Amino acid sequence: MTTAVRSTPPPPRPPRQAEEGLSFYAPPFAEEGREGARTAVLAELARQLGDRLSVASAVRTQHGNTTTWVANQPPDAVAFPSSAEEVQAIVRTCATHGLPIIPFGVGTSLEGQVNAPLGGVSIDFRDMNRVLAVHPEDLDCVVEPGVTRKQLNAFLRDYGVFFPLDPGADASIGGMAATRASGTNAVRYGTMKDNVLALKAVLANGAMITTSRRARKSAAGYDLTRLLVGSEGTLAVITEITLRLHGIPEAIAGGVCPFPSVEAACEATIATIQSGIPVARIELLDALQVKAVNAYSKLTLPERPLLCVEFHGSASGVEEQSARFGEIAADLGGGPFEWATKAEDRTRLWQARHDAYWAALGLRPGAKAIASDVCVPISRLAECVTATQADIAASRLVAPIVGHVGDGNFHLSILVDMADADEIRRTEELLERMVERALAMEGTCTGEHGVGQGKMKYLKAEHGDTALLAMRAIKTALDPQNVMNPGKIVTLG
Ligand SMILES: Cc1cc2nc3c(=O)[nH]c(=O)nc-3n(C[C@H](O)[C@H](O)[C@H](O)COP(=O)(O)OP(=O)(O)OC[C@H]3O[C@@H](n4cnc5c(N)ncnc54)[C@H](O)[C@@H]3O)c2cc1C
Repeated sequence: MTTAVRSTPPPPRPPRQAEEGLSFYAPPFAEEGREGARTAVLAELARQLGDRLSVASAVRTQHGNTTTWVANQPPDAVAFPSSAEEVQAIVRTCATHGLPIIPFGVGTSLEGQVNAPLGGVSIDFRDMNRVLAVHPEDLDCVVEPGVTRKQLNAFLRDYGVFFPLDPGADASIGGMAATRASGTNAVRYGTMKDNVLALKAVLANGAMITTSRRARKSAAGYDLTRLLVGSEGTLAVITEITLRLHGIPEAIAGGVCPFPSVEAACEATIATIQSGIPVARIELLDALQVKAVNAYSKLTLPERPLLCVEFHGSASGVEEQSARFGEIAADLGGGPFEWATKAEDRTRLWQARHDAYWAALGLRPGAKAIASDVCVPISRLAECVTATQADIAASRLVAPIVGHVGDGNFHLSILVDMADADEIRRTEELLERMVERALAMEGTCTGEHGVGQGKMKYLKAEHGDTALLAMRAIKTALDPQNVMNPGKIVTLG
């Protein structure tokens, strides 16, 4: 009798579909090893997806972090599913062998969220970008995760509704939900936490859950929608999103107003919000950012702190709101406040804000822009921004500031010479102090960019040991194998 010698043991038995529920895969056989798991998964996925699985080096690199200085860590392969069922099959295949799964929208996240520190399969939602339903009467729609916010708004235009959230980039709705994104008009319309009504998502064992219904409100049990919004792919893979929509306003007024100081601009912001003016956007550019835009866009704005504002409503409403804002600004030494309602005039006035990112890069050609955000209670904003400006100067760094000031949120774009180790050290220290300052002011280490790899180290200081343990307990309960985007937000073990 001959005995067969197995070089690799069989993969762990997956839970059967019917018993799937919340039973998860056992940890992979140690003997299979990472290489064995990788080989088995790639062979199985190639069979399932054909040429919609790529192992090309350039494609893998493009699916690691490319936006900031967080080092690029590419996945082993990139899968391009075209249905939720295919996503389930990919997750089951990966989880059976304990290989990580990293969801990918369009890769604009800034804290290393899409990196694959342990390898694994990136799931790119490029081909899942359909708008599945629009319910204008209920002001909601149902979309696949790969649709970008601009694609969605182009689709919605004829329905007289729009999806307002606007992070600078043309991000995917899945990525925006997963990072709890916001942007320039969150002050009026809220963040993704306020605009996602329900999700369908694939858990770490391949089971599909629906987190809520289309009803505007619900008190039915734990709020799984808000648990997954902001979870950065570490708990589940989102395959469908029900979004809240808003009516396209009858009129929009937009304008710009210089101020003598950051304090005056922040005071004007607070007074505007406290007096109940429903401002749709209120953005601060510090003097350095205005200087950058003047050079980049050939403008002649006074090189002082600038507020860019926008009002949505009826024609008479936006006129009244603009007039009231102008009075508030003048009381605080600001002005002249230039505003307009025609789209082309508004675009011209807002050019400074629209071009801010590219203009900042122009301040120091060849340097890498390191973007980072914090958020504080709005009453502490002026203090936080001015202390950060003083710190930038003391650190001998170039870092213009742009802020979604209606929310107390601001960003630094630090222009760093990546060949200069001392400059990199000074940048890291500046960012640490900015976070410490925000936390000391009862703020948060990130208002909108999320945690990823870059801000994990701050969660303990922000939330405390016990809250962090609660986050770990949730992660362990939903992903005991640690296959869902591991190495982000919380570590296990
Ligand atoms: C110039 C610039 C300006 C920016 N300004 C802002 C801003 O003002 N406000 C703001 O909020 N952000 C801003 N960002 C950051 C970025 O645009 C947001 O974080 C955005 O939400 C990321 O979307 P994405 O499609 O690129 O996601 P990706 O970067 O592809 O992914 C982000 C995270 O979401 C996860 N993910 C993606 N799809 C899914 C899915 N279907 N299921 C589960 N998890 C998923 C990924 O695993 C990853 O953890 C800016 C970025 C740039 C480059």
